[in-house]
Amino acid sequence: METLTHDIVIVGAGIAGLRAAIAAAEANKRIDVAVISKLYPVRSHSVCAQGGTAAVLREDDSCDLHAWDTVKGSDFLADQDAVEFFVRQAPREIITLEHWGCPWSRTADGFINQRPFGGHSFPRACFAADMTGFHEMHTLAGKATIHENIHFYNEWFVTSLILKDKITAGLTAIKLKTGEMYAFRAKSIIMATGGYARIYEFTTFSHTSTGDGMAIAYQAGIALKDMEFIQFHPTGLVPSGILITGGARGEGGYLINADDERFMKDYAPDKMELAPRDIVSRAETMELQEGRGIEGPYGPYIALDLRHLGEEKIDERLPLIRDVAIKLGGVDPVKEPLPIRPAAHYSMGGIHANVRTETPTRGLYAAGECSCLNIHGANRLGTNSTSDCLVFGAVAGEEAAKHASSASLQALPKKKVLAEERRVFEEILGQEGDEKVAEIRDDMCRIMSQDVWIFRVGDGLNNALKGVVALKERAANIGVKDGGRPFNTGLVAALQLNFTLDLAEVTIASALARTESRGAHSRLDYPKRDDGNWLKHTLASYAKTGPRLEYLPVTTTKWTPAARAY
Ligand SMILES: Cc1cc2nc3c(=O)[nH]c(=O)nc-3n(C[C@H](O)[C@H](O)[C@H](O)COP(=O)(O)OP(=O)(O)OC[C@H]3O[C@@H](n4cnc5c(N)ncnc54)[C@H](O)[C@@H]3O)c2cc1C
Repeated sequence: METLTHDIVIVGAGIAGLRAAIAAAEANKRIDVAVISKLYPVRSHSVCAQGGTAAVLREDDSCDLHAWDTVKGSDFLADQDAVEFFVRQAPREIITLEHWGCPWSRTADGFINQRPFGGHSFPRACFAADMTGFHEMHTLAGKATIHENIHFYNEWFVTSLILKDKITAGLTAIKLKTGEMYAFRAKSIIMATGGYARIYEFTTFSHTSTGDGMAIAYQAGIALKDMEFIQFHPTGLVPSGILITGGARGEGGYLINADDERFMKDYAPDKMELAPRDIVSRAETMELQEGRGIEGPYGPYIALDLRHLGEEKIDERLPLIRDVAIKLGGVDPVKEPLPIRPAAHYSMGGIHANVRTETPTRGLYAAGECSCLNIHGANRLGTNSTSDCLVFGAVAGEEAAKHASSASLQALPKKKVLAEERRVFEEILGQEGDEKVAEIRDDMCRIMSQDVWIFRVGDGLNNALKGVVALKERAANIGVKDGGRPFNTGLVAALQLNFTLDLAEVTIASALARTESRGAHSRLDYPKRDDGNWLKHTLASYAKTGPRLEYLPVTTTKWTPAARAY
């Protein structure tokens, strides 16, 4: 197998990966940076970000207020020192993107415009119409390509991380065009592989969001943190699950039940539709469960009414939403309310790392949605994720460059590399089992949607865990029909299935252990938050018998946990 060598390898070319690449390349021009991505960069899920990117830009807003909103939104599980760092760095990122050409929407007097967003007590979501991620990604991709020390490996699929004596040595990746596997050596590796909401069926996420980097790190012995906390977005378009941005409510949209009522008055009378996502998604679910959903061909739904905003404002501020709703939902929001339901949207959990994006393994960093740096706690506020990707993408790039400037390359343990080649090409591609990837994937999504959705109970979680363990056994017996090497999408799907099954298992095991309700983790059998026992982070490590759980304390600086009312 051929070996390729770089100082830094970044896995992932979304907002976090591209921002990291630019930061590393600029930190030291002599450092050579590789970005490996299973997709062309501008096809990463980040391009789908719609509503905005949070940062304090106005004098009557403040970093303390942004931090407080984030901590309260997190149901007090966020580490407050990390949050304070994050909010102070975010404005710099907005201005940096501005200098690199990001076409932010403007106020009449030419300043970067900001819109209100759920859980934020000031309008601080910077936006580029409702295509914020698209414009951020094009800005970053353009900037990254002008650096001669950044080398792109587009449509290469990373399969494993290789450590030597618990230090980062490299990884293995398949060049999809030829189907050949390569080994990479690097002093620093940054994981920036995005989220894993594809363990669910009704989700706002791209089909490619299968959490590969999280599972790869987990399989290499690095712990995953707070994986029980999955965010459900209140406005997934029925029937596809495609996102209708929270910006639609930020611009003044209403949520309406079958009685034509703005029911949020019963759940969050102050913030109404702009309460945090966990609260709005639960409210919608209660309305549906109590029979106040509107009947439709795909089951009961909630209406998102934008008609009162008028055509001009919808076309200026929400043009993508209008287009998507007409093309994919057959509904024009100028004329009719949109049919929506909560959809799986974001993972607060991820690879265990600190505020410098360092994982416990020397030379390995994590940034963006695949990481858990304790910013979002039990519930992320809308528009804080793209800021997180920008702020900590930059931190990861700088830290990885610092490390690469002084560390030396490790030799790749040959045995591990050959074992990975055997696993992929003999045990998966070469196997002639009867099980089908798509069937196991559908069963996993069904289990997760049934028992690991917005409301959870112990019995359901136990059943789900047994179900996923049984699916893992079945997955050991899959057959990939196409035995060819170039662009073997069946092989990629099989590898992704293995990743998602591990992540589903960790999610359920972490959720089962947490006998309280906090943020997005809502246990009907333990309906209250229990700070005495559970104000702590979950760490899940790989063990042959299933995830091994430990806990870490939460860092509190200024704000003592209080009741969370909106
Ligand atoms: C529809 C939608 C709208 C959203 N809107 C907003 C918003 O308005 N504001 C906000 O703050 N957040 C929003 N979010 C969340 C936010 O967009 C994401 O959390 C964020 O963009 C994730 O970026 P990332 O860089 O971590 O990963 P991604 O953009 O998901 O990129 C992952 C990268 O990893 C690569 N990769 C993955 N696995 C492998 C592998 N095995 N080998 C090689 N490469 C691999 C992929 O090719 C890709 O380049 C939204 C999310 C969705 C789904």
